[in-house]
Amino acid sequence: MEPKNERLLVVDNDASNLDTLARRLERYGFAVDRASSGGEALRHLDKTQVDLVLLNHHMPEPTGMEVLRRLRATHTSSELPVIMVTALNDTGTVVEALNIGANDYVTKPLDFEVALARIRAQLSRRAAEHELHHRDQRDAMAARGSNDGLWDWNLESNEIYYSRRWKGMLGCSDDEIDNSPAEWFSRIHPDDSNRVQHDLEAAISGSSDSFENEHRLQHKDLSWRWVLSRGKAIRTESGEPLRLAGSQTDVTESKIADPLTNLPNRNLFAERVANALAKSGREARYEFAVLLLDLDRFKVINDSLGRLIGDELLVGIARRLRGIDQKFAAMPARLSGDEFAILMDDVVGLYHVKKAAAWVQQSLAAPFSLEGRDVFCSVSIGIVLGPGDARTVEDILRDAETAMHRAKTLGGGRFEIFDNEMRKQAVARLELETDLRTSLAKGDFEVYYQPKVDLDNGHILGFEALVRWNHPRRGLTLPGEFIAVAEETGLIVPLGRFVLEQACHQLGAWQKEFPRVPPISMSVNVSFRQFRDTHLCENVERVLLEAGVDAGSLRIELTESVLMEDSAGAAQVLDRLKGIGVGLKIDDFGTGYSSLSYLCRLPFDTLKVDRSFVQDMAEGRDGLEIVKTVLALAAGLRLTVVAEGVETKEQAEQLRRLGCHYAQGFYFSRPVEAEAARRLLAGDPLPIEEAVH
Ligand code: C2E
Ligand code: MG
Ligand code: MG
Repeated sequence: MEPKNERLLVVDNDASNLDTLARRLERYGFAVDRASSGGEALRHLDKTQVDLVLLNHHMPEPTGMEVLRRLRATHTSSELPVIMVTALNDTGTVVEALNIGANDYVTKPLDFEVALARIRAQLSRRAAEHELHHRDQRDAMAARGSNDGLWDWNLESNEIYYSRRWKGMLGCSDDEIDNSPAEWFSRIHPDDSNRVQHDLEAAISGSSDSFENEHRLQHKDLSWRWVLSRGKAIRTESGEPLRLAGSQTDVTESKIADPLTNLPNRNLFAERVANALAKSGREARYEFAVLLLDLDRFKVINDSLGRLIGDELLVGIARRLRGIDQKFAAMPARLSGDEFAILMDDVVGLYHVKKAAAWVQQSLAAPFSLEGRDVFCSVSIGIVLGPGDARTVEDILRDAETAMHRAKTLGGGRFEIFDNEMRKQAVARLELETDLRTSLAKGDFEVYYQPKVDLDNGHILGFEALVRWNHPRRGLTLPGEFIAVAEETGLIVPLGRFVLEQACHQLGAWQKEFPRVPPISMSVNVSFRQFRDTHLCENVERVLLEAGVDAGSLRIELTESVLMEDSAGAAQVLDRLKGIGVGLKIDDFGTGYSSLSYLCRLPFDTLKVDRSFVQDMAEGRDGLEIVKTVLALAAGLRLTVVAEGVETKEQAEQLRRLGCHYAQGFYFSRPVEAEAARRLLAGDPLPIEEAVH
């Protein structure tokens, strides 16, 4: 299809050349304006918008070059393509014109086919760029346009003309790169070269309309630059490819820099770590370190102060991290979200790395002033010394993450150095997670029951449901070994639902078999992660209904950490549960940080004194005083107290004397399987009655 309505300006002081060329172009459907001098051309362009200028170089003042120079002061090469018409073999002029900003050139005597092909190539390039402009990239493209390098591959002679700017992008001067295709192709990153070749072949063969490819080229300083190369094949009338010509833009910045903070991004960081790994393979004594930084509580800042302030904080952090470059010759980067990393090249001992980590923490410790408020932040840092056993960049980042998580688990605001022990633990943890999933699907979990006893008469008042894992290889496994992982992975939600259902159905059965007043109760542990599950309350209601159990016989046990995590949300859920009629207990009381104000405000009815205090009650030990205090406190707040972990007759007696009426512990019974628990109920009261009295 011939181009229609595209307006060209042909500038030539030779009237007959001008006329012939203009007429031929008009026959191809172009609208052609004519100018017989440089001055006329400039005046014309002032008033009229044209799509391309065909500019004769050899003219009296102003010369073609002069016109080009003035034009480029007002129009970029992507806004207004200019094709220079030069004398044959006048390479000096061609190069100068290209450097000033000509988009292409044709030589005299004019080969009309060639001129036509080049005009079309420029017009379609301009059209493509205009499309990009519409996509809001006007500024970026305009800035780039004038910076483009040019290349022009003569397929017949197999030579490529590279513009000075093209060579400059790779740090080379004009005479350092000759016309051979190898100058380009041998510099392409091995991972990209197949793609480039494929796209070039497609453009030459005509199977694709044009060539467009982003790839890495090696700079003279051996670093990699990302370039966007675009071109078009120029063909004979019969479609034979003659040349492939186009432009090259350096897009390294957008490929390797994080747009928010302008720090190197994950791509560049990974590339540098890969270099460090490769270097450590070559040089036995070379060591490097990767520090992975994660902000503690960034989410809270983002949620409470808004994303804009969150972004500002990230920018502020990046600014401070840049200082590490001079201090420790290290490279900071932003990997994602609130995750930053630092690569220390050529480290001299662990001491050096620790000093750098301490420097990071110190430099982030001062408050950030964001929109008039002081915001504090701290980071957890995971450190990997390379190369160690790591083989790939992914290995290193994964190990750094393991160490960083350790730092978080230990309270945040600190750094941890990865060691093999951590790797073993990480692997074990991963196995545990996989096993948990499979076992959940297979039903390898079981609920055990530990009785709660009335210290006055040994009667069983209820049970606490405690989950057990019949691990396919390890056998019976206690919650201490898997609850934390189940919480982290969210698997606690389906697991907790299983325990709740199991325990309530069991309770329903026992209440029928052993009717009592008040009926036997059941306590179920719920961890903070389940507490965030929006379906918790609905589930409780549904399960109670299905099991035919009164809400009043179900008690939910929560540790104080639930309240610490999110007191407002927690209070709401507690109120709903209370509304359903379920009893609420604080478990392990005294080990957390719950304040008295929580106790007063929240609808708890029972405290469970942690077993560490019960076991520390022997004469003269602190435990006794603590238990007394808790009992006094509970009495004041009208809360029932249950003592946990009663292992001896003395402890049971002492508790009863202190006025504690209820207890659990190995002394009465260990947690047991349902059938064994049923037998305890059948033999109730427990034979401990005498012992306690
Ligand atoms: P917990 O809720 O405080 O449960 C009491 C723990 O103390 C149980 O450990 C129990 O076996 C143990 N125990 C009871 N009497 C004595 C005693 O006289 N001496 C000693 N040394 N220990 C005693 P277990 O079953 O290993 O459970 C540990 C923790 O795991 C529980 O502490 C609870 O926080 C959690 N857990 C257990 N089952 C579940 C569950 O279904 N869901 C959730 N979210 N957590 C659970
Ligand atoms: Mg409990
Ligand atoms: Mg407890």
